[in-house]
Amino acid sequence: MLPLPGHPSLTKDLRSLKGVGPQLERILQEKGFQTVGDLLSLMPNRYQDRRALTPLDRLRADSEALINGQIEDLRPKRSGRTGRRFFEIIISDDTGQVTAFWFRLPAYLRRTMKKGDRVLLFGQVKDYQNRLYILHPEIIPWQGKEPPIPEIRPVYPELEDIKPGVLRRIMAQASRELSGVPAIFPQAWLKKQNLSDPITSLMTIHRPPARKTGPLPRSDQSRAWRSLSLFELIFIQLALARTRARLNREQGLTFPIQSRLGNQFLSSQPFKLTPSQAQVLKEIQQDMAAPRPMNRLLQGEVGSGKTVLAMTAALAAIDGGFQAAFMVPTEILAQQHYQTLTPYATRLGLTIDLLVGSRTEAEKNLCQEHLASGKIQLVFGTHALFSKAVQFKSLGLVVIDEQHRFGVAQRLALKSKAARPDLLVMTATPIPRSLALTLYGDLDLSMIQGLPPGRQPVKTKIFSSQNRVEAYQNLAQEVLNDGQAFVVAPRIEAKETETNVSEDLSAAKDLFRFISQEVLPQVEVGLVHGRMKIQEQQAALEAFRKGRIRVLVATTVIEVGLDVADATMILIEGADRFGLAQLHQLRGRVGRGPRPARCILISGSEDSPSESRLQIMARTSNGFILAEEDLKFRGPGDAAGLKQSGMPSLTWARLPHDLPLLLQARKLAQEIIASDPELDDPNFRLVRDVVNQIDRKMQGELVEAG
Ligand code: ADP
Ligand code: MG
Repeated sequence: MLPLPGHPSLTKDLRSLKGVGPQLERILQEKGFQTVGDLLSLMPNRYQDRRALTPLDRLRADSEALINGQIEDLRPKRSGRTGRRFFEIIISDDTGQVTAFWFRLPAYLRRTMKKGDRVLLFGQVKDYQNRLYILHPEIIPWQGKEPPIPEIRPVYPELEDIKPGVLRRIMAQASRELSGVPAIFPQAWLKKQNLSDPITSLMTIHRPPARKTGPLPRSDQSRAWRSLSLFELIFIQLALARTRARLNREQGLTFPIQSRLGNQFLSSQPFKLTPSQAQVLKEIQQDMAAPRPMNRLLQGEVGSGKTVLAMTAALAAIDGGFQAAFMVPTEILAQQHYQTLTPYATRLGLTIDLLVGSRTEAEKNLCQEHLASGKIQLVFGTHALFSKAVQFKSLGLVVIDEQHRFGVAQRLALKSKAARPDLLVMTATPIPRSLALTLYGDLDLSMIQGLPPGRQPVKTKIFSSQNRVEAYQNLAQEVLNDGQAFVVAPRIEAKETETNVSEDLSAAKDLFRFISQEVLPQVEVGLVHGRMKIQEQQAALEAFRKGRIRVLVATTVIEVGLDVADATMILIEGADRFGLAQLHQLRGRVGRGPRPARCILISGSEDSPSESRLQIMARTSNGFILAEEDLKFRGPGDAAGLKQSGMPSLTWARLPHDLPLLLQARKLAQEIIASDPELDDPNFRLVRDVVNQIDRKMQGELVEAG
């Protein structure tokens, strides 16, 4: 929905439109249209060209035409074969003849026509047994010589059973309201950018000026369309740029660039940072040392080594006398981080703790008490860290790992836990640039290029379900040759409706039975899924880490963040049920050490399209390419990830297709905010109105999340 300013013509309710009664209103409201202004975001699918008459000898099959001719003959008929009644008239002009054909033509319309009359018709031309027909044409009432008006008519998508004519008349009324609405942007600015105002563009979309010739306004070729896409993005970028400018004006905390704890931690690692990691660490340290709060997004491939940087940052905050909080999407991952850091913490004399849902009330209470008193210096946790009860004494740094699972709103909610903590957001899900700029336009970006040295790409092979036996032979071989494997199932339990359970290995429990009894009865096989007690999950994972369990059957609880350096294979059942970005994450669970690793994808179906989609996994290990592909695959209708994040969904712009527009929008928004941070210029009053609406929407999500 393109947000529009609160002008009285646009905020009118739908019932103010002629022809909208309670029933129509309900349908429109269910589609998300509350006001006349909302309705203007309903885009025409296409346009009908009614500007010029087509001579009858120029009619082409499968096109639409406006024709004018004399009625030579007219009669009701009945098909000899089917017995179905229809009505046809034969029309001629100077150049030729055509038959107009209706299955059902109301009697009152029939009565308007008689032999020798001239008629004006608009309809679809079809070829049937080498003859051209015009099917169910609209009869346009008219007496004169020229068609009444040169007309380009928008055709709107079907909305349930609203008749096309009714919807068109409603839209025509709605768009007439635009004539009283002033431009949103100041004329001088528009002129300088060579843009037309969104209001003008909306007018063009719904009431295209009937130029005598030229192409029909159509989708992204049309200037108006592009302009609306651009403005839709500009409004969002303005909201983000303003938020960011506000954050930058805030007084933040300063931490020492070089921290003793951080350096000790780094030098105790068995490796040296890669140049890219070192560069990113420098960016983080500079942010933390600066008096304004850090708001940084750290992107890096799966396994690129983000954790060590975040820990170093956390230790710097602690060195500066503050607390740090490390938030992750799963308990398993929180546990992993906690365990990794425990030995260092013990050695360095730090107090760290874990705040996750599965801990007892008493434990949680104690943890909260110690967070409030400042006793705990570093806490790992899941969204439990969000809950209202959690207060910090002096929160200096918030790290959010695997950010793709958190929306903008949660991000802001956690920030509200303390005055102005620094914020480091990390993601391994390679967010396509187009989405990153939209979702995280208020953050600075850092990127770890490449992977630590010595890593070998994970060899990926795809099996169809018929060749499953071979796939499991591969698994058995790997494990018997001293390898260790994850096996991933899309679900925990088989659906009850499925009769032939042994054929369906999409359920983790069945897969566990199958592997431990039939494929590898001689080795230890483990099972982990989200409905197990966290302690049991933990135990299974620990046994796998230690190498006692050789095969770990799992659901997607292992999707993000898990770091088991010795795992050499991952086999994914029903791989076609996962998105590419998700498969990439899962595949990233192996190949995290120097040992070569393999990935086996078993496609559940024999469908060729999804197979070919999976083939991309074999061709590339570049997460960005995979994410872009994923986005394309989901199609333009689903503004992927946007809805989930609390961003206004996009009506006009399409990502990643419109990345150039997004970059332009971002630049324009930044320029505006640079010279007028709060949009105080009275000429930008309407712009501010729209931007405030977007902000409120994001804040609204925030309240729900909190
Ligand atoms: P991710 O970026 O996916 O969170 P991790 O931070 O879990 O990746 O790191 C993956 C593995 O790589 C860890 O075992 C970590 O110790 C190791 N690692 C990190 N940096 C380096 C490096 N510079 N050289 C070698 N190994 C590294
Ligand atoms: Mg990680």
